[in-house]
Amino acid sequence: MIASKKGELSFSPEALREKYRLEREKRLRTDGNAQYRDLSGLYADFEKDPYVEPGFTRPALTEQIDVLIVGGGFGGMLAAVRLRQAGVQSIRIVEKGGDFGGTWYWNRYPGAACDVESYIYMPLLEETGYIPKEKYAKAPEIFAHCQRIGRQFDLYKAALFQTQISQMDWDENTRRWNVTTTRDDKLAARFVIIAGGIMHKAKLPGIPGIETFKGHSFHTSRWDYAYTGGGPTGGMNRLADKRVGIIGTGATAVQVVPQLGASAKQLYVFQRTPSGVGVRGNQPTDEAWAKSLKPGWQEERIRNFTALVSGLEQDKDLVGDGWTSLFDASEMRRARSPEEAAELYQLSNFRKMEEIRARVASIVKDPVSAEALKPYYDPLCKRPCFHDEYLDAFNRPNVQLVDTDGKGVERITPTGVVVNGKEYEVDCLVYASGFEVTGDYTRKLGFDIRGRGGRSLNDAWADGPSTLHGVTTRGYPNLLMIGLTQSSWAINFVHILGELARHSAYIVEQSLKQGVEAIEPTQEAQDQWWGTILASLQKGGIAFGGAECTPGYINNEGQQPHPRMIRSAGFAGGTLGFIDILENWRKSNELSGLELTRGGSNP
Ligand code: NDP
Repeated sequence: MIASKKGELSFSPEALREKYRLEREKRLRTDGNAQYRDLSGLYADFEKDPYVEPGFTRPALTEQIDVLIVGGGFGGMLAAVRLRQAGVQSIRIVEKGGDFGGTWYWNRYPGAACDVESYIYMPLLEETGYIPKEKYAKAPEIFAHCQRIGRQFDLYKAALFQTQISQMDWDENTRRWNVTTTRDDKLAARFVIIAGGIMHKAKLPGIPGIETFKGHSFHTSRWDYAYTGGGPTGGMNRLADKRVGIIGTGATAVQVVPQLGASAKQLYVFQRTPSGVGVRGNQPTDEAWAKSLKPGWQEERIRNFTALVSGLEQDKDLVGDGWTSLFDASEMRRARSPEEAAELYQLSNFRKMEEIRARVASIVKDPVSAEALKPYYDPLCKRPCFHDEYLDAFNRPNVQLVDTDGKGVERITPTGVVVNGKEYEVDCLVYASGFEVTGDYTRKLGFDIRGRGGRSLNDAWADGPSTLHGVTTRGYPNLLMIGLTQSSWAINFVHILGELARHSAYIVEQSLKQGVEAIEPTQEAQDQWWGTILASLQKGGIAFGGAECTPGYINNEGQQPHPRMIRSAGFAGGTLGFIDILENWRKSNELSGLELTRGGSNP
C-alpha cells in the first residue's frame, strides 16, 4: 500500500531525506548552547525595562501571607484567579515587570501577535465576558486582557511589581517560606507558587566582534520605540533614513520583518535557518458567531484544539487553522502496524513541508532568495510559523535576505555585519535571537530555593528533578510549580498553564481548609511519577524536536542532552492524558502521594 502511495508522490523521499541530512550537518556545531551569550556585562542594559518610569520606590513590606505567587504572567495570574475563586484572599504576586502580562508585558515588538487562535489562547474569556477582536489577537489586545483579568479578579491589590525574589528559605519551625525581595520585602508565606515562565531570559548570539558594534542595538523583547518611533502596530517613522539589520529568523522575526521592511530605509535579514511559514488567514471576529456562543464554549474549543494537535480523532475541527491541519493524523490512524504508521507519518511530513516550500516559491519573486527561504527539515523540528506578510516582505526593493547557508553571521564590526566576507553596513541591529531554554531550573528562575535543612534546589536537582506531576517536590514543602519540568506541554501553552494553576490552587485550598500546614510528595509517589513519564516516553507519539532535526533550542542544539535535561522530560501521553491524570487525582480528594503535616503536630 505504501509503495503504491509512493508512486503518486511528486517528490523523492530518499532525496529529501538526504537533503535534510545535509542541511542539518551544515548547522551542527560542537559548542551547542554555549554559542549563545547572556545579557550580562556590556549587554546588561538590554534587559532594562523600557516601559516603566525610572526611579520607582515603595516602602518595604513585612507580612505573613497564605500564598506567594512568583510571576505575573498568565501562569501566575491564573493561579491567583483560581485561588480567589476558592476563597483564598491572602495572596501576593511578585513580578519583575511594571504590570501583569509576562510575555505580553515584555514582547511589544512591532507585529507581535498570538500565533495560536485568540479564542483559545486568551484565558478566561467567558469569565471576563470578552471576545477578542481578531482570530489572532495582536499583542496590545492580549496585554490589555491581562490587565482586564487583573482588575476583574482584584489582583492588582496583591501585586508587587518591579520586584524580584532574592532569597527563599523554608522555615521548619513556622512551616512557612521566608522570602526576601530586591525591594527588601520580608514575606512569610505558607505556600509559594512558582510561575516564572519558560522563556524570559533573552540571549544573544556569541558572534565575534558583537561588543564592538557602535550603532544602536537591542533585543526584540525590549523594543526601543524611542529609537524606532511608531508602536506595536508599526509606523516606525524614525527608521525612514536608517539601515537596519535583524539577526534571527525564528517566530519573532517572522512577525517583525514585515514591519521593519515597511518602515526602514534598508533592511537586511540575516538568516541561518529559514522558518517554515504557513498560511495565517487572520480575520476580524464575526459578531454573529460571537453572539451565538453558548456557555462552556471556550473550554470545549480549547479541548478540541488540544485533542487535534495531539493527533486524536474529533468529530469536528472548531479552530480549523494551520496548526490543526499540520497535526492531522487521520492517515496514520489507518496504518496496520507501528512501522506503517511511522512511514505514513514521515511521508505526510514531507508533503507538508513540500507545501511550505511551494508557498515560498509562489510568493518570493527573486529565485535565489526564494530557494534560501525554503526550510529543509521536518515540520516539528522548529516552531512552525504562520504569517501572510513575511514572505512577501522579501519582494520589497528595500529588503534583502542575507543567507548565511547555515553558518550564521561571521562577524560584527563597529559599523555592520559580515557574511561570507562581505560587510553590510547598518545603523541599527535588532537581535531576534531568542531566549535561554535550559534544563537548569533555578538558573531559569534567577534565584535559588532553600528547602528543608537549607538544601538548595539547585544542588538537589543537580542530576535532574524529582517531582509529583511536576507540581511538588520532596524536601521543599508547600512549594508548587507551574512549568514544563516533569509536567506536560501543549501547543496552546496557556491550556497547560491553566490546568497546572487549577491543580496548584486545589492543593492550597484543601490544605488550608483541612488545617494542613505542610505538604510534600513522598519519595514513592515521585518515583512512581517518573515511572509513568518513562513509560509514556517509551510509547512515543507526536513530538517536537528529535535527534535527526536541524539544530535549535527544541532539540538542545542537536547535542546529546545532559541527564538533568532528560529527567526534566514531561508526560508524553498527550496533554489531555496529563490533564486527566491531574483531574482524577483531584477527584479522589485524598491528596494521595502527599505527606501532610497538620497544625499543632511537631515539626
Ligand atoms: P528563536 O530561538 O526561535 O530564534 C532565534 C533565531 O536566531 C533563529 O532563527 C536562529 O537561527 C537565529 N540565530 C542564532 N544565532 C545566529 C547567528 N549566529 N547568526 C544568525 N542567526 C542566528 O527565537 P524567537 O524569539 O524567534 O522565538 C522563540 C519562541 O518564542 C518561539 O519558538 C515561540 O515558542 C515563541 N514565540 C511565540 C510567538 C507567538 O506568537 N505566540 C511569537 C514569537 C515567538 P537557527 O534557527 O539556525 O538557530
